Amino acid sequence: MNDENFDRNPDHMIKICHDYIDNSKLIEKCLKINRKNSKKSYEYRLKGNECYVRGLWNKCLYLYSQSLQYAPVSNDDSLPLAYGNRSAVNFQLERYELSILDIQMAIDNGYGNYKSETKLRNRQIECLLRLNRLDDARQISDMFGIEFSKPKIFDSTEKPIASSENEKIPEKIGLFSSKVCLSYDNHYGRYVRAGNNKSIESNELILIEHPYVHVLLPHFECKYCHHCCRQLSTIDQFECCSKCSIIAYCSNECRKNSWQQYHQYECSFLPFLWQFGIGHLVYCLMAKTDVDLILDIYQDSLNKSSKEIEQNLQPFLQPSSSTSKSTYHALFSLKTHQNQMNPVDIFFYRMTATLIIELLFRKNRYQTLKIKHLKQILIDVCFRHLCQTIFNSHTIMIPDSNDCSIPIATAFYPSLSLLNHSCDPNIQIIFKNGIECFIRSNRTIRSNEQIFNCYGINYRSADYKQRQQLLLDQYFFHCKCQICKNESKDFKL
Ligand SMILES: [Zn+2]
Ligand SMILES: [Zn+2]
Ligand SMILES: [Zn+2]
Repeated sequence: MNDENFDRNPDHMIKICHDYIDNSKLIEKCLKINRKNSKKSYEYRLKGNECYVRGLWNKCLYLYSQSLQYAPVSNDDSLPLAYGNRSAVNFQLERYELSILDIQMAIDNGYGNYKSETKLRNRQIECLLRLNRLDDARQISDMFGIEFSKPKIFDSTEKPIASSENEKIPEKIGLFSSKVCLSYDNHYGRYVRAGNNKSIESNELILIEHPYVHVLLPHFECKYCHHCCRQLSTIDQFECCSKCSIIAYCSNECRKNSWQQYHQYECSFLPFLWQFGIGHLVYCLMAKTDVDLILDIYQDSLNKSSKEIEQNLQPFLQPSSSTSKSTYHALFSLKTHQNQMNPVDIFFYRMTATLIIELLFRKNRYQTLKIKHLKQILIDVCFRHLCQTIFNSHTIMIPDSNDCSIPIATAFYPSLSLLNHSCDPNIQIIFKNGIECFIRSNRTIRSNEQIFNCYGINYRSADYKQRQQLLLDQYFFHCKCQICKNESKDFKL
């Protein structure tokens, strides 16, 4: 086979991916793995019932949540009964708002088809009374003919659930501190520096960023929220996807947002995507980005040289949300280093891009062929993003019980990606509330001084020669940070 001809024939690649999906029965195999299972759901519910009798509320809550995880959504009693049972545990734990939510979910999912609703309605009234919502309680009582006697006054303080104790920060992207400027020069490309006459104190906040897209690493599903990466402890009331049983959410809001943004295209392929490495991140990126936005930015890029695209500071200057046009524009403009990549890698990434777009077509992500060659454009864009991930994706690290950091997810933070490397960085990165990235100075940064991140290779972990080699192999540059400049005199490469 002639690699060069092969590489230039995108139709050939599409056919290979098409045949691979069909011949390997990829879709059928994925659909068999980790789907809902009413038998498992029933087993967890039974174990939950045993704990309920013994008053082991936290364990019981966990088991009922597991039962929900495996419960099929329709024509089955698993889901409504697990919700009904969990509402009883929440009642015992004095979490009345959550108990009411579970009761509503039980009823909405057909509890009445399997058991009498009266017990649930009684519990609902009790919860409302304990929250001092007397009118709502009376309304339910009138609607369902349930006896209602004037209650005593309850203390309405609700016990908070563990995850809500975390501070909530609004979703923001590219929100650099006002003390920071963006600049461009031929050596560094775009870079971030302290502004004119604006020095930054040690431990000052420089940037808070929400990722444009992120994926949890496979080992951490069900331990962290699939959408916001908050840790799920066993006393959290986690929510599940209605189709698969392999992920969990911290809230209904995360479940809804995840489904609407990307999980509807990812759900049935998850077991495959977990083996896809960085391809999983780019799959979700393509799934969540509006196709018209992709086409707009792609068409616009055709009139520009890659230097022009990579010099543009504009998309990074606008505070925006993670779904906005400027954020995607910022991400699209990140450097790809395609010219420095070797032909085997390029071939591999082109093939991966083709497979991603084929899978998204199978999931009806692109329903109409609005323009000719749409598939080929999407493959080109997807290939661009795959090349970018090598240099611009970030690992989300969280502290573990041994005071070390462990990687739980990979993500794209476009603004963070603007920071160049130094073997002795002047910032530190902390992830809070799951995926919010907080960047603070770790020393005083003088006015006009550049702000540097570290790409995982620093002067404490490797000597000069090792650092230069690693950075050259992985990021295609010779580091000229102050430490390297000082140490270069002692080494000859
Ligand atoms: Zn969440
Ligand atoms: Zn799912
Ligand atoms: Zn260096």
